[in-house]
Amino acid sequence: MPITDLAYAQQLDAQDPLAHFRDQFVIDDPDLIYLDGNSLGRLLKRSRDVAQDLVDRQWGKQLIRGWNEGWIDLQSQIGGKIGQLIGADADEVIVADSTSINLFKLALAAVNFNNGRSKIITDDLNFPSDLYILQGVARLAKRPLQLQIIPSDDIHGPVEALAAAIDDDTALVALSHTVFKSSYTYDMAKITQLAHNAGALMLWDMSHSVGSVPADLHAANAPLAVGCTYKYLNGGPGSPAFLYVQRNWQRKLGNPITGWMGHESMFDFALDYERDAGLRHFLTGTPPVLSTALIEPGVDLLLEAGMDRLRDKSVQQTSYLLDLWREWLAPLGFRLNSPAEAAQRGSHISLGHDDSWRISQALINEMRVIPDFRKPDNIRLGIAPIYTRYTDIYEAMHRLRQVMLEKLYERYSSMENTFT
Ligand SMILES: *Cc1c(COP(=O)(O)O)cnc(C)c1O
Repeated sequence: MPITDLAYAQQLDAQDPLAHFRDQFVIDDPDLIYLDGNSLGRLLKRSRDVAQDLVDRQWGKQLIRGWNEGWIDLQSQIGGKIGQLIGADADEVIVADSTSINLFKLALAAVNFNNGRSKIITDDLNFPSDLYILQGVARLAKRPLQLQIIPSDDIHGPVEALAAAIDDDTALVALSHTVFKSSYTYDMAKITQLAHNAGALMLWDMSHSVGSVPADLHAANAPLAVGCTYKYLNGGPGSPAFLYVQRNWQRKLGNPITGWMGHESMFDFALDYERDAGLRHFLTGTPPVLSTALIEPGVDLLLEAGMDRLRDKSVQQTSYLLDLWREWLAPLGFRLNSPAEAAQRGSHISLGHDDSWRISQALINEMRVIPDFRKPDNIRLGIAPIYTRYTDIYEAMHRLRQVMLEKLYERYSSMENTFT
């Protein structure tokens, strides 16, 4: 059967061993094709119930007693479960703050530890907030550093240039595991090894890989990582992030934002800071309990599905999307802005076109397909294998083709900033 037949996609859905997980999500508009789970994951039915209980019973009735009845443990408890997704132990991962703040804490801790060295290395594929945070860290460190941003070809990680740049003057290497525009995914073990060989610390941002690309921080011997929970983990808008510190680094590194939640005995209300002996000293202030608790149902569901099975499905789905791109869209001027090789990419695909902005607007407004747009020309199509169907991919690509054939994008003009 030709891959351009709807029946082909229907058959893939019928054979998909993970298909039933979609029923766990709130999807009351089946005609809306959502391909932006890499920016904001969908709502789980269970999260809706948990939210109701959190507000009505836990806050409404338990009041302050809630802290002793579970709230204070949520950050470690959910961190431990995220650890299972990324190859880390339960006492090495904790939920707190935002990805940007966690990056700041770990990056500044790392460069202050390695303070005889004068360089931080990253690449130009990294997320802007990561670059801004690293610029601030370079300025604020005990001994100011240079931030070196290694240029790429806009799609692939500049592995050889990184290898050449990482030297015995490098304090820290900070990279996104899967990069936000092209979806290029680094070989975590290989790059971590390069950093180690030079005596530099490695810090991975797993925001675009956690929950979609299996990773094994222990196998890579990675010391530090951070990541986001509102993307593939489906934690909800602005849900707090996580940080990972390998056990043998927990005593050596100090949190630069010392707050009472990181104190070894916070309820002594002592005048001086004495840090907690374990990972908790990377906490600072009171966590947002409601949005922290809502991370757990999504993580539980991914653990039940299994990262290897999710990755298998993700690779099949991005490959199917590329097959349709080749048949239908490449002839209409769409470029592939992601790696062609499955092993080098995460779970989203970026397609470029000279008219990308207008096309993405027509796709959203006229065709009810939600991707997102990232300058200069990327239409990002995010596949969340836990709930995306093959027929969603078929529909999205079919409707994208209609936008072109019917020239629907000609109704749109100006360039604007937007979340979608
Ligand atoms: C999504 C994302 C962030 C988001 O950071 P916030 O602090 O939550 O705004 C940071 N870094 C990367 C690589 C991301 O993909």
